[in-house]
Amino acid sequence: MGFERQIEEALSELKASGLLRKPLRISGPQGPEVVIDGKPVLCLCSNNYLGLANHPAIAAAAEASLRLDGVGAAASRLITGTMDAHREAEGAFADFLGASAAALFSSGYAANVGTIQALVGPGDVVFSDALNHASLIDGCRLSRAEIHVYAHRSPGDLESLLAQHRAKGGRALVVTDSLFSMDGVTAPLVEIARLAHAFDAGLLVDEAHALGVLGPNGRGVAAAAGVKPDLVIGTLGKSFGLAGAFVAASEPTVALIRNRARSFVYSTAPPPMLARAAIAALGVVRDAEDPRRSLLTHAATLRAGLRDLGFDVPDGESQILPVLIGENDRTMRLSAELLDQGVFVQGIRPPTVAQGTARLRLTPMATHRPEQIDRVINAFASLRNPR
Ligand SMILES: *Cc1c(COP(=O)(O)O)cnc(C)c1O
Repeated sequence: MGFERQIEEALSELKASGLLRKPLRISGPQGPEVVIDGKPVLCLCSNNYLGLANHPAIAAAAEASLRLDGVGAAASRLITGTMDAHREAEGAFADFLGASAAALFSSGYAANVGTIQALVGPGDVVFSDALNHASLIDGCRLSRAEIHVYAHRSPGDLESLLAQHRAKGGRALVVTDSLFSMDGVTAPLVEIARLAHAFDAGLLVDEAHALGVLGPNGRGVAAAAGVKPDLVIGTLGKSFGLAGAFVAASEPTVALIRNRARSFVYSTAPPPMLARAAIAALGVVRDAEDPRRSLLTHAATLRAGLRDLGFDVPDGESQILPVLIGENDRTMRLSAELLDQGVFVQGIRPPTVAQGTARLRLTPMATHRPEQIDRVINAFASLRNPR
């Protein structure tokens, strides 16, 4: 069989199992409403939790930077150097998290695959939560360290794996999401940090979905729990409304990452405009106490409203609400029906979540109005044949 034919076959298999993904076409900016095929719909599926993706002051900072710094960074920073914008952004994010240094990456994905591979390698051991984000999983694999996957949010399982396998390693690293993106639950960071410390392992916490939303001034789950991980990964693509990411850690750790993380060393630095926009976004995030409160109130209203209608919405205190459906086709049919009613909710299928646990994932935004949240609940109420 020819190559093109084989590719077509792979696509047909995806389609047959209800797993073919087709992104919709959005016109105009991301906001609490977006325009799909000319029609405005409520957006309940973005990670733009605080509505900063289209924030005038942040856009103005980017515009000013275009005139000051130009559009590109010209090469990897190890070649053309660290621009003022990068240096200032790294200082601002290190400060924000109370770390001594930070390194800026072009995405959270790049930060995770680069950071883990920079810190551990063959002969070392990593301990990874079973439901960690794909970029953490890929980072562990790329590192070629020995990988031990512990049961989701289970300090007990982590402890027994550490006891069994820690002695082998030169270095050991425990890796976890702080707020799990598809379930909206947090990791037991106090217990995990205690174990990492007891076994002389480093702790890397990925705060992608938590930063900007949870913790004092939006500093995340670790800060809320009074835990100080060795490394915190923060992405700029979610609450910060931009793109890019940073890792905050000690000076020596960040120095090693800058020298060894292949996605940092062998990749063009993010545009300086992005770094300056990130500094502006950080200023907004820090003071966003009222928006954070609105966001979590919207989430609580949705959780209660959908449960009242009989939907399976697990407990949670975050802005992420999974509505468990089960089958892939059914999930996508409900998503399409909601879109017809003007509510954009994404269906999440394997391999993003486990087989048989396909779900609708709802994420309100701080900038939704209460009546828009009510409209979402009404749309669920009028679904034909919802379960
Ligand atoms: C989204 C996400 C990432 C990837 O970040 P990007 O900036 O979108 O590449 C990494 N880790 C977690 C936990 C995420 O949710």
